[in-house]
Amino acid sequence: LGRHRDDRRQTGFSYNDVHFDQDNLNVFAGLCAVDTPEHVEIMMKSLADHGQTCTRMGAYKPRTNPYSFQGHGEACLPYVFELAGKYGIRVIAMEITHESHIEEIDTCLEQLGRPTGVMLQVGTRNTQNFELLKAIGRQKEYPVLLKRGFGITLNESLNAAEYLASEGNANVIFCLRGMKTEAGQPHRNMVDFAHVPAVKRLTRMPVCIDPSHSVGSRDSSPDGIPDVMHATAQGIVAGANMVLVDFHPRPEKALVDGPQALTMEELPAFLDDVALCHELW
Ligand code: PEP
Repeated sequence: LGRHRDDRRQTGFSYNDVHFDQDNLNVFAGLCAVDTPEHVEIMMKSLADHGQTCTRMGAYKPRTNPYSFQGHGEACLPYVFELAGKYGIRVIAMEITHESHIEEIDTCLEQLGRPTGVMLQVGTRNTQNFELLKAIGRQKEYPVLLKRGFGITLNESLNAAEYLASEGNANVIFCLRGMKTEAGQPHRNMVDFAHVPAVKRLTRMPVCIDPSHSVGSRDSSPDGIPDVMHATAQGIVAGANMVLVDFHPRPEKALVDGPQALTMEELPAFLDDVALCHELW
């Protein structure tokens, strides 16, 4: 995936009628964790109403605390995929934490007649889970969203992407999601979106930003604009190709990361701002 390997090769790929490359922008707004079919439907419908064809939906959640909600896993896949099909959602970014989840997703999609597509997400806690990366790299059906490791060097995270490519899957998007450091306060992580152009220069991968997990709260500045939106704007102006962002119909009821989710009422303004920032490229 490194540019030095062959500069003339295409940077992008298409999957399920959605194109990804270093020159365009796709928004994946959605639920950090699937909780109820009702919330999934509200989310999908709002996205469709605003012309969106991609989303994020967490079924398998990697939690720091073993007693926290771990996600509905395989059980929620049928209604997530059916509702995506109903509302014309073409690609769902979905984290997997074990290679067996690939088969669970694949089997469910197949049984339903493939109403939607899935981009397999590798979370920051698994950036150096090399056996998982190799297993994901061996399959070529699904593209991959690889998160930067929160406590390793950029180069080490880029090497993790090479694990995917070296096994045969080069349809990889690299996601910046902030770095763990006390210096990042008041945000959950130190926002690292200044690295967007650097990753685009160093590799052929489209670059995603995750403002929700970088900032970690819905706090707003005195201008009333949430920090999540400020961070999004910075990332897009820097050239980001994808935005992974948490929304929830009732953040106070969310089972994972509710405090950082934007509300459905904020979706139109968020999308307008994204479009405005994209024009500044
Ligand atoms: C997520 O996107 O749901 C997530 C857990 O992100 P990260 O791996 O960046 O913490």
